[in-house]
Amino acid sequence: MKYKGTYEFYSTFIEGLTDTIPITIPFNLTPSKVRALENHQSLRFIHAGNWWNIKNPEKRSKELILAQQMKLANENTTGLMSKNIQPGDQDLKEEEDRLKKIYRRQINYDKFLYWLLDSSELIDYYNKNLEYANWAKENNNSAIPIYCSIQVINYESAREWFEKASNNGHNHFCIGVSEFLKYPKFKKEGIRRLFEIGLGIRSVIKECAKVHFSGVASYYLIPILAYFGVSSFDGSTPVTSALAYGTIFNENGYSLRASVLKDNLKKREKFFATTNKCKCEVCNEKNIKQIVDIFSKDRKKRVIHNLSIWRNLVSKLNSKKNNLVKFLEILDSRINSKYFKDLLKIKDDILEKYDY
Ligand SMILES: [Zn+2]
Repeated sequence: MKYKGTYEFYSTFIEGLTDTIPITIPFNLTPSKVRALENHQSLRFIHAGNWWNIKNPEKRSKELILAQQMKLANENTTGLMSKNIQPGDQDLKEEEDRLKKIYRRQINYDKFLYWLLDSSELIDYYNKNLEYANWAKENNNSAIPIYCSIQVINYESAREWFEKASNNGHNHFCIGVSEFLKYPKFKKEGIRRLFEIGLGIRSVIKECAKVHFSGVASYYLIPILAYFGVSSFDGSTPVTSALAYGTIFNENGYSLRASVLKDNLKKREKFFATTNKCKCEVCNEKNIKQIVDIFSKDRKKRVIHNLSIWRNLVSKLNSKKNNLVKFLEILDSRINSKYFKDLLKIKDDILEKYDY
């Protein structure tokens, strides 16, 4: 779509990451991580936190978020996310009660997807999000942009509310998206909504304006969302999958656990056959057996390798940014998976539906 600018991916921060990896950090970063970050010169995007981690509204007030973000900001900070809320937050207590009455049941927000509600029920939330973003913009006494965050749920609400935000003088926009990808049963619909939202936002803002999707790191989703005009992303997949599951990715987004890579020669062959040999600091100038040995033993090295795969994806997006249609075609032929083809089909359906 019409976006003139570069793309970026911000990784969840863990200690030991090198300065070349852009990171996302929460406003309420733990003291030990604050210390670990002291001399860190990587680009940083400062998050407004997730309500499900911080249930007490006083610990996530708009004032507290901005003040803490300012403390963590430095000359490499690229954005401050404004406070976003959605049903389940404690900010709009009356709204919560009203919604529960309408839906005639005890809504358990841990299992409930607010984005499946009718958009007309969410107007107070949209309004509140915009109010918080406007407040943050007015009270921001730095040159770091405030990313105006609004939890819209579809194409129409994305257009309506981000157009308002743009008219209010915002040029940086954001939405927290992990809720859309949370449950396997609704994941396909969630992905469709994310594509719609990306398209909707981009259609009402300036060509140079930035759009950040927080909470998506999927190797397959990022290029398609970029095509729709989303300019940056943050997520933990390359890090947490390497740490918790021992998962390694190759340059086609194909992933395997290090233990499988070690023991299953057939899968190992498939993993290495389709991709150019990785040139990251872990893999460079080593043979496959040496690489697999390192992956099985050293979790930090798995993280470094995975992040280099994501860095390569971003640099390819940036070098091909004037022709992402072609880039998606190349990716499709390289990845050659039914899942990716299904995603491209969803993309095409949306373009047709909204007449692009
Ligand atoms: Zn590597």
